[in-house]
Amino acid sequence: MSQKLLYTGKAKSLYTTENDDQLLCVFRNDTSAFDGERIEQLERKGMVNNHFNAFIMQKLQQAGVPNHFVKLESDTASIVKRLKMIPVECVVRNYAAGSICRRLGIESGLKLEPPTFEFFLKNDALHDPMINESHIMTFKWATPEDVALMKQQAFAVNKVLIELFQQAGLILVDYKLEFGRHGHGLMLGDEFTPDGCRIWDAETKKVLDKDRFRKNMGDVVEAYEEVALRLGIHLPQVSSPA
Ligand code: ADP
Ligand code: UDP
Repeated sequence: MSQKLLYTGKAKSLYTTENDDQLLCVFRNDTSAFDGERIEQLERKGMVNNHFNAFIMQKLQQAGVPNHFVKLESDTASIVKRLKMIPVECVVRNYAAGSICRRLGIESGLKLEPPTFEFFLKNDALHDPMINESHIMTFKWATPEDVALMKQQAFAVNKVLIELFQQAGLILVDYKLEFGRHGHGLMLGDEFTPDGCRIWDAETKKVLDKDRFRKNMGDVVEAYEEVALRLGIHLPQVSSPA
């Protein structure tokens, strides 16, 4: 099978497949923070994130939110539709945490009603600066129709996932989405995993996402696995020592 490495990101690698319209997306154990300034290998993370992402993307498809996921290929890789990515990140927040607290002096944990929506430019060298729709139009990163669709889809995702996490006793605090062009349309791409969202236990507010890595709290992948278990995601067992 002719596979060519197309792109290596901070946590995933994309390969061409025999089908021009599809890519193989490999979830690696690399874990980065602070725009790639800190990178570490966390055992099992690629496998956990691959299964986590497959589960969420399928739930979204069942709920009518189109996305690039095609099928699981192995424990650490999935087949996805090949998209032409829009270079902006869409962030939805249900509770205040992270950069909104730093930027606006908002207390962490405040419930945001209605939830907020923000755009950031996907550019590590510039530290992913916050941008608005006017920037997106002027610099032609996307069309007005794309912007409307990204916003609408980002909130459609929220409707599905808030409830899914709530049923598992979890709070979906915030998340980042990326969209890409497919034919004449636009659809959700990239990933939905604890690397790109914040998840807290509903009772104890225990942090169960990549903030554990950013803040050196330990048990990062263990926390991802706890969320997976509570959502009913089937993960391969850890092989027992010989
Ligand atoms: P980063 O780019 O932030 O370092 P990743 O390691 O997650 O992060 O790299 C994945 C890259 O692949 C990202 O640039 C993302 O925009 C891109 N990508 C995700 N899904 C698709 C897709 N279906 N088609 C093409 N590119 C994609
Ligand atoms: N996020 C991400 N990639 C980025 C920036 C943010 O996945 O390059 C996610 C992050 O994990 C969180 C949400 O988007 O779930 C909002 O991040 P925030 O703006 O608060 O930035 P941070 O404080 O994490 O730098």
